[in-house]
Amino acid sequence: MPIYKKFKTMKNFKYFLALFCAMYTLSLVAQKQSAPLSKHVILIGSDGFGAYAFNKAKVPNLRKMMQGGAYSLKARSVLPSSSAVNWASMLMGSGPELHGYTEWGSKTPELPSRIIGKSGMYPTIFSVIDQQIPNAKKGVAYSWGGIQYLFEKDIVNLNFNGSTDEQTLNKALDFILNEKPALTFIHFNQPDGVGHDIGHDTDAYYAAVEKIDALIGKLLNTLEKEGLMKETTIIFSSDHGGVGKGHGGKSLLEVEIPWIIYGKNIAPKGNLTTSIVTYDTAPTIAYLLGLTTPNFWRGKPVKQAITQ
Ligand SMILES: [Zn+2]
Repeated sequence: MPIYKKFKTMKNFKYFLALFCAMYTLSLVAQKQSAPLSKHVILIGSDGFGAYAFNKAKVPNLRKMMQGGAYSLKARSVLPSSSAVNWASMLMGSGPELHGYTEWGSKTPELPSRIIGKSGMYPTIFSVIDQQIPNAKKGVAYSWGGIQYLFEKDIVNLNFNGSTDEQTLNKALDFILNEKPALTFIHFNQPDGVGHDIGHDTDAYYAAVEKIDALIGKLLNTLEKEGLMKETTIIFSSDHGGVGKGHGGKSLLEVEIPWIIYGKNIAPKGNLTTSIVTYDTAPTIAYLLGLTTPNFWRGKPVKQAITQ
């Protein structure tokens, strides 16, 4: 018996069909986006902050995030353990084989990007937010000029190149307090600068690490005072570590980076056993914001850290 004969009239059948189509469309929308776990995500990247620094530096604010949240000190950079290739991977959810930024100071991909998004580059987390939460604010404040080539400048609401890490933080804080953005990426240029000038694993290097920790303390205190911490998740990581006066090589001192997550809907699990690579950061941000990740990304959200 044809299905419409189960309905008393053709009109009833048409109503059923319209209802079915509407529900099917709604289910597709639901698949695309789920309820956000966090309203605001702040990604803090401290350049050249090797995971090894935790052995000697006094970092009470980062420790507070590690104890109240989840972390790994065995997260890894992609190779080579250089800056632009890793910042690109962190924001683009993929390795250099796909996004094509392969060097320390890549401004354009040396290898053609496998996918080109609307902004003319390999899509970052900012594009993903732009497409799925059209009115969401998003911004980038950074102390190393090389960051400006690694995100879609045409879709962000803040693109600020600070001359010091303090200036960068202050601008980012103004943006967070005034605009309540979905995502803010804050890039600090230290301790990489001191690592190159004076050397990694030196007193000066640890002093620079401790200054970064103090800036993070200022951020945490401000968010708490303004009541924003209740709706915010923070991820702290780095692009690479270092050895001697450099990085870019294949030692664990250069490749192992901290990956700390703290705040809204983060389980206080402490040390995570899961493998984390820097390209898992963008999918984790998408997961927190309830967004679907592009199927060409290769990273996975670090679900072990998130309250289920
Ligand atoms: Zn770097």
